[in-house]
Amino acid sequence: MTAPSSTPLGLADNYGRVATDLRVSLTDRCNLRCTYCMPEEGLDWLAKPELLTDDEIVRLVSIAVTHLGVDEIRFTGGEPLLRRGLVGIVARTTQLQPRPQVSLTTNGIGLSRQAEALREAGLDRVNVSLDTIRRDTFQELTRRDRLQDVLDGLAAAHKAGLAPVKVNAVLMRGMNDDQAPDLLQFCLDHDYELRFIEQMPLDAQHGWSRDTMITADEILERLADRFDLQPTDAASRGSAPAESFTVRGGPATVGIIASVTRPFCGDCDRVRLTADGQVRDCLFARTESDLRTALRAGADDEDLADRWRRAMRGKLPGHGIADPAFLQPARPMSAIGG
Ligand code: SAM
Ligand code: SF4
Repeated sequence: MTAPSSTPLGLADNYGRVATDLRVSLTDRCNLRCTYCMPEEGLDWLAKPELLTDDEIVRLVSIAVTHLGVDEIRFTGGEPLLRRGLVGIVARTTQLQPRPQVSLTTNGIGLSRQAEALREAGLDRVNVSLDTIRRDTFQELTRRDRLQDVLDGLAAAHKAGLAPVKVNAVLMRGMNDDQAPDLLQFCLDHDYELRFIEQMPLDAQHGWSRDTMITADEILERLADRFDLQPTDAASRGSAPAESFTVRGGPATVGIIASVTRPFCGDCDRVRLTADGQVRDCLFARTESDLRTALRAGADDEDLADRWRRAMRGKLPGHGIADPAFLQPARPMSAIGG
């Protein structure tokens, strides 16, 4: 392996942004069917030969860290806890030098059984998706009766020291948009850090509509019914997608990721690798760069790093959701890795 690269050899695009935060999708499969993400019947899953093997994933992650200046790795999916080799992949990733920050975005089902092993493998943090604490709403929203599994997973992550435990929530009009204050109170009571994510046009069914999505302004309005929120120092936000607010004078905070109504593309430092080895420079990109073919054809690390650098140059300045000509990417969120 060659020496670590400096930032100029990192994942820079033509607008001066440098990607240092890699999101790796470990599978496109999932055991929930969140209405804003997947249709009830699921999707045509990627076939096994198309998926990167554990070794291939670790190889590409290692190139990102040692050649391309990536210092943060987030494993996601689909549902990453469904990937059998997850603990091993995490362990090998946390042994890389320089040591990246390693986190996981999960729906929490099965986390109660894996949290301790993941912690021992070196995992730093988890984000658990939870949109409601009401069993009936959970069932309506995810089409599965699994709320208790998620709550158990959250508790286990907290106990294992995967701190701070973050909770991601999407509000859907007429389903759970009246429950934002209850969810925040629950997270405050349990020492979880809540972040609301605006619904984005990334569902496989193409059911998103600007007219029905719940905006950041509306989320703040609903929370203000019960909580005194104050914006935290904007300078501390950096490239973080969430705008942060202190709750009742702090120290607890709540975040809002307003990708649609308050886009933050100008500060984006993210890049994505799909479970079948495609680099995506943006969630909303309509093109991808294939690393798997070169990898399987025997390309060396330097060649793969070069391909990855080239893949980033064409990153567009913004996602263009507000543009009347906007088209959703062919891949849904669950196959990209959120
Ligand atoms: N299955 C895992 C989970 O749910 O956390 C990881 C993958 S999921 C695609 C990652 C995140 O994307 C979750 O927090 C989920 O709520 C969010 N998400 C999925 N579809 C979305 C959409 N259309 N708009 C906004 N967020 C979405
Ligand atoms: Fe599965 Fe996550 Fe999509 Fe829900 S948001 S269906 S848990 S991939």
